[in-house]
Amino acid sequence: MSLGRPRISVCGSINMDHVSYVRVAPGAGETVVGQGFHESVGGKGASQAVAAARAGGSVEIIGAVGDDTYGLLLRSSLMDAAVGTSGLRSIAGRTGMAHIVVDDQGENAVVVVPGANASMTGLTKVEEQRIALSDVFLTQLELPMTVVEAGLRAARGAGVKTVLTPAPVLTAPLTQTVLDYVDVLVPNIHEAEVLTGEPYPLKAAHALLDAVPEVVITLGADGCLHLDREGLPLWIPAFNVAAKDTSGARDTFVGAFTVARMAGRSVVPALRWASAAAAIAVQGQGATNAMPHRAEIDRLFA
Ligand code: ATP
Repeated sequence: MSLGRPRISVCGSINMDHVSYVRVAPGAGETVVGQGFHESVGGKGASQAVAAARAGGSVEIIGAVGDDTYGLLLRSSLMDAAVGTSGLRSIAGRTGMAHIVVDDQGENAVVVVPGANASMTGLTKVEEQRIALSDVFLTQLELPMTVVEAGLRAARGAGVKTVLTPAPVLTAPLTQTVLDYVDVLVPNIHEAEVLTGEPYPLKAAHALLDAVPEVVITLGADGCLHLDREGLPLWIPAFNVAAKDTSGARDTFVGAFTVARMAGRSVVPALRWASAAAAIAVQGQGATNAMPHRAEIDRLFA
């Protein structure tokens, strides 16, 4: 299936991920010996930007890195991934860092130190114009809520479609004012439960439709559930693969789903294509390292 090249702006966090692989994650007061380590581009903003660029989007990132070595490294890594960085701020201080421990089941535990991400309190006129010039705007909740809201408002004001990944939902409660600017909400099952009080995905999806017109709840190895105000619920199973590291699974899914939808694919093939992308990502290591290019997604999708 051939895809166009939608213009995507992504406003979100940018972190240097330090990932350690262990058999079993340490408990409080415990030290364990790791099997491996690597650094990679992380943060939900950077991850969704890389995922969307690899999936075939023309992507610009809006965010901040510090003036340390990691800031330089992240800027050049994003450029290598074909993500536009002319809207990337470089501020005095430390780049955001994430310390991630992945166990042999592929599950992860994460500590994030926001650094430069926390320095953003709003958007400049130029950043808002950048958003207004795109076809679709992606954001998450790892930047201060004032920035998230400003980005969504700028997009809505310019008629640009908006996709919000409400993570981490516990540290940044969502208001209806923010949700009013959202076209597509992509919570995982835990976030859907926090937002609605409903542990069952279908009930949670119906409850979320009161707030936004389209919802995709991701369910890990159980796939995803899609519901909008026009259609019936759709459950799309995950591809059956051996997961090594699930960090970045949903960011890969969101990037690929957005590219597919904006390029004109209908919902079911777009969800399947995004599931194929995420299934490839979970078989590799790191949030962005294993994110697939369009041709690889097409091969698994076929
Ligand atoms: P985040 O990456 O933000 O922490 P998440 O890990 O909660 O999000 P999931 O719901 O686990 O996100 O996964 C997103 C999508 O990735 C799923 O809907 C599914 O398509 C795919 N996926 C996740 N885990 C697996 C797996 N073990 N096997 C195949 N596909 C998977």
